[in-house]
Amino acid sequence: MAETSIEWTDATWNPVAGCTILSPGCTNCYAMRMAARLDAMGQAKYRGLTRKSGGRAKWTGKLFLDRKALGVPRSWIKPRQIFVNSMSDLFHADVPAAFVAEVWSTMAATPQHTYQILTKRPDNMAEITANLPVLPNVWLGTSVESSDYLARIDDLRRVRSAIRFISFEPLLGSVASADLKNIHWAIVGGESGPGARPMAANWVSEIEAACRRYGTAFFFKQWGGKNKKAAGRMLNGRTYDEMPTASL
Ligand code: SF4
Repeated sequence: MAETSIEWTDATWNPVAGCTILSPGCTNCYAMRMAARLDAMGQAKYRGLTRKSGGRAKWTGKLFLDRKALGVPRSWIKPRQIFVNSMSDLFHADVPAAFVAEVWSTMAATPQHTYQILTKRPDNMAEITANLPVLPNVWLGTSVESSDYLARIDDLRRVRSAIRFISFEPLLGSVASADLKNIHWAIVGGESGPGARPMAANWVSEIEAACRRYGTAFFFKQWGGKNKKAAGRMLNGRTYDEMPTASL
């Protein structure tokens, strides 16, 4: 839990650390690199979550459920937009449903905050959240990096939530045929950092057009690349920072 430079949120909260690579969008996972760094700095929470392979950090598949972190947002009085689990995936198969229920209890007890939860496992999200209350301050989303993963949007549509959102980041291919019906918000971003893969401008325009068709709020986060600051976040000569409106 820390202040963050992510453009669409204020703070991060990590009740779970550790993950497993699932699809091409995970290849340059920022959390994997950061977990290796935090382990090297002696932070016990990240011990053994990654190993070195070919000179790069790789998840070992071990997860750390941080019970001590569960209540942290209760101590934050000032309202914040909180990105939940930037260092993991809350709906990883090895996170017990009972632990997710404890995360829900904290979020229910802190209505001053808005929570954003992003998963690459929306099928698990749909199953687990079916047994949890719909909270007006919780936004649930999935990542889609290319047309190979459009089915994740169908899984997300099954999720009951005040706001359902898609993160098209890192965008690795065209998703022109994406069905955004009943999706409140779309974030688009190119990959950044070492080994960043390129994003074509027309892939971004296609998503913007889909957002206009379906009435989905459109947020353009960044072009990305090795120097994401230099590449910036202007599209058509302007920025796009639209935020969603709940339909509950
Ligand atoms: S699901 Fe997210 S946290 Fe897990 S490996 Fe992929 S990008 Fe990283």
